Amino acid sequence: KLYNEVQDLKGNIRVYCRIRPFLSGQSGKQTTIQYIGENGELVVINPSKPGKDSHRLFKFNKVFSPAATQEDVFLDTQPLIRSVLDGYNVCIFAYGQTGSGKTYTMTGPNATSVVDWGVNYRALNDLFNISQTRHSSITYEICVQMVEIYNEQVRDLLRNGTFQKRWIWNSSQPNGLAVPDASLHPVNSTTDVLELMNIGLMNRAVGATALNERSSRSHSILTVHVRGVDLETNAVLRGCLHLVDLAGSERVDRSEATGDRLREAQHINKSLSALGDVIFALAQKSAHVPYRNSKLTQVLQSSLGGQAKTLMFVQLNPDVESYSETVSTLKFAERVS
Ligand code: ADP
Ligand code: MG
Repeated sequence: KLYNEVQDLKGNIRVYCRIRPFLSGQSGKQTTIQYIGENGELVVINPSKPGKDSHRLFKFNKVFSPAATQEDVFLDTQPLIRSVLDGYNVCIFAYGQTGSGKTYTMTGPNATSVVDWGVNYRALNDLFNISQTRHSSITYEICVQMVEIYNEQVRDLLRNGTFQKRWIWNSSQPNGLAVPDASLHPVNSTTDVLELMNIGLMNRAVGATALNERSSRSHSILTVHVRGVDLETNAVLRGCLHLVDLAGSERVDRSEATGDRLREAQHINKSLSALGDVIFALAQKSAHVPYRNSKLTQVLQSSLGGQAKTLMFVQLNPDVESYSETVSTLKFAERVS
């Protein structure tokens, strides 16, 4: 099994931290990142409030510095992704405040530039490559779904698309349809995926005042279903990969937010804490895992817990102005790791 290539397995949950670089125009800003260790240690400080208690140490499975490339990040994610071909269910999340690099890590800044590709495209590309070269007797079928969860409503981002859709795999089958009722789209190449994701991103923008606004307040889930059939034995193997770009985790000032904005914030809060509770319960090997508390955890239930593998990218903006959000992001991560 490819998955065993991962050396530092600690149960089925791992947490990687990624710090985005300062962007152009941000030179001269103070950073909150004081130290990054070889073994996943991270020390943050608040340089505007120096003092004895200003250092905080956190520990992850891995920390990616601002210099880490998309390729670096993918290399440490690849074994987990390949385990889908062995029949595992895998969930990969990006968590962090808006602007911390969640979309950069999961999708990348620009689909047309291959070096900038994020985990999504690289994962699909890798699955296509390896499924064509490995185990000559097994043929793999790959399908994708793409949904958005906004205000506790699940929306199919590919249903209005022009891409030809086909309903295969019955939801009554085990592992059949992880996202109930969302359209499933067979894909044969990375080009198919790029086309579909474009449609999904366009659909995501529909009805939103501004794409950035909306995308930071909804969770988007790209689900990849893999079905392998061994032509010699007729054995069927299924695996499923969820790639989740979460809504921004920033706190909304209750005294300022009203109406729609407040409602959005409450839904985001509720679903992110429900996700934290589920992962925490799984990490503790608790008998009761509270999946029912949000749409997000319901949709992902079959891929969280049991044999499933979970990876959380904890995204940080190094800017000192983000210090309090950084600490609250790190506290969330500390609880689940
Ligand atoms: P989020 O999805 O968390 O709101 P984005 O992924 O949109 O954040 O990132 C915010 C900005 O920072 C974007 O302009 C993005 O291109 C840039 N960015 C994020 N991470 C990196 C990185 N590792 N290297 C270079 N630019 C990055
Ligand atoms: Mg984003």
